[in-house]
Amino acid sequence: MEQKLKIIPLGGLGEVGKNMMALIYDEAILVIDAGVMFPENDMLGIDVVIPDFGYLRDKASQVVGIILTHGHEDHIGALPYVLREINAPIYATPLTCGLIEGKLERYELPCEPEIHTVQAGDTVGLGPFQVEFFSVNHSIPDNIGLAIDTPLGLVVHSGDFKFDYSPVHGQPADFATLARLGSRGVLALLSDSTNAESPGFTPSERRVEPAFDEIFRSAEGRIIVATFASLMSRIQQVVDCAARWDRKIAFAGRSMLESVDIATELGYLQLPEGIEVDLGEVDRLPPHKVVVMATGSQGESQSALARMAEGRYKQLKIQPGDTVVHSAQIIPGNEELAHRTINKLLQRGAEVIYGESAGVHVSGHASQEEQKLLISLLKPRYFVPVHGELRMLHAHARTAQRVGMAPEDIFVVENGYTIEIDRECGRVTERVPGGYVFVDGASVGEIGPAVMRERDALGRDGVVVVVAQMDENGTVVGLPRISCRGFVFVRESGELLDGACQKALEVLSRLANGQERATLECSLKKALEAYFYSEIKRRPSIMALVLQAEGEKALG
Ligand SMILES: [Zn+2]
Ligand SMILES: [Zn+2]
Repeated sequence: MEQKLKIIPLGGLGEVGKNMMALIYDEAILVIDAGVMFPENDMLGIDVVIPDFGYLRDKASQVVGIILTHGHEDHIGALPYVLREINAPIYATPLTCGLIEGKLERYELPCEPEIHTVQAGDTVGLGPFQVEFFSVNHSIPDNIGLAIDTPLGLVVHSGDFKFDYSPVHGQPADFATLARLGSRGVLALLSDSTNAESPGFTPSERRVEPAFDEIFRSAEGRIIVATFASLMSRIQQVVDCAARWDRKIAFAGRSMLESVDIATELGYLQLPEGIEVDLGEVDRLPPHKVVVMATGSQGESQSALARMAEGRYKQLKIQPGDTVVHSAQIIPGNEELAHRTINKLLQRGAEVIYGESAGVHVSGHASQEEQKLLISLLKPRYFVPVHGELRMLHAHARTAQRVGMAPEDIFVVENGYTIEIDRECGRVTERVPGGYVFVDGASVGEIGPAVMRERDALGRDGVVVVVAQMDENGTVVGLPRISCRGFVFVRESGELLDGACQKALEVLSRLANGQERATLECSLKKALEAYFYSEIKRRPSIMALVLQAEGEKALG
């Protein structure tokens, strides 16, 4: 039988976040990344979202390896959940390994994970796949792309990438390797689409330095810089700036502290002797001698910056004269929270420097010209835009066409669509599950669309509970009790609720004799729905409970 290569995106295609991809040849499955996504505004009560990897569940023993391209949460965050069900060896660079080891310690796993440290330039054999790692730039050090040799040809996965000729960390992207791969012939290129709508080149990380120098030169009070905990090059740049302008630096937020520890230990972050102080010491220093780096650029409610903005952060209170530098891109979907935080900081009298024009952030992802360069170096037979919402994937497909790719050789697909390639051609075939798996507290995947719809209805219209009692003969005892939450202000709605109570009594008296309890509850619910709608045009969720006394022990 003809052998086929299957490429199945399980996350990250059609959305920003929870990246995960499966490559299948014969029986062997290679998994690339296992990330989380932060819940969208309408995902009420959800902590994080992980990919639906149900497709792999009964094939767990066929997984030959899990490769993590870099240490961002949208690439490693779901690893603990994946390892609970799929025990496969993990391959990642030193910093990524450091970050996942810290993370895995907090989870209980069925067995000790097998973690292999690899470097750009290494090649490992995993079943039928020979995987070569090459360096590309991004907003975290030790980021890699993958050149995966399969029996049908070479598949290149860009990872998250940009081309930076003067990076703060590490080397510029490995153009020589990319050109060598291109000259060997590339079957398929899977490439990062995050910035596919941005024309031109993404500037070098170095670009932010003059803006920071200007801020440090002119700020008279404390400086607070908010960025991603994983953006180590930015942390290094702020540390260097602090050293140049003679300020001490403190770090705020658990993930920021963890990340600084790991990066310092592994040599990715250089802190000059004596420059770091504890957050607790900040108040004892003159304001113009202090810079604080904090998490919370996305407005996450429990982050250091959001708590400072709301005055709930004990160690540091925002005061007039503080300068807050928002040095991060706001991820699509987080705008509302991030802007709310900025507004609250302004209310407290801080000066806030943010946004594109301030020059205090550059993206970690390639823009159109870099995307063209990658395609031109590799000259792939097939092209699959990955990592991004559908509009970004389509923009990336248009860019590929502009550098000469035929539309029929480009596969724009969302999660779960299988791309199948054989010796003759490539095509999109079956669809496997590729949706959301919600994590809420300790429950993983138990909350589905039905529960989310209920939460949404409760949030929108509130809930009314009616409780009625009957004696052993089926006669209603006393008045039904009505309570509600999130529906109306009880103290001002006596008339409405009394009316509901009368309505309930009427229904019960009419139907009570000889009816099943469930039937009664259902009639009660319908009658109250109709009542509230006719009175105030609202549809709260109604729960009706009829309690029936048994034998001698009559209640009430
Ligand atoms: Zn990334
Ligand atoms: Zn990413």
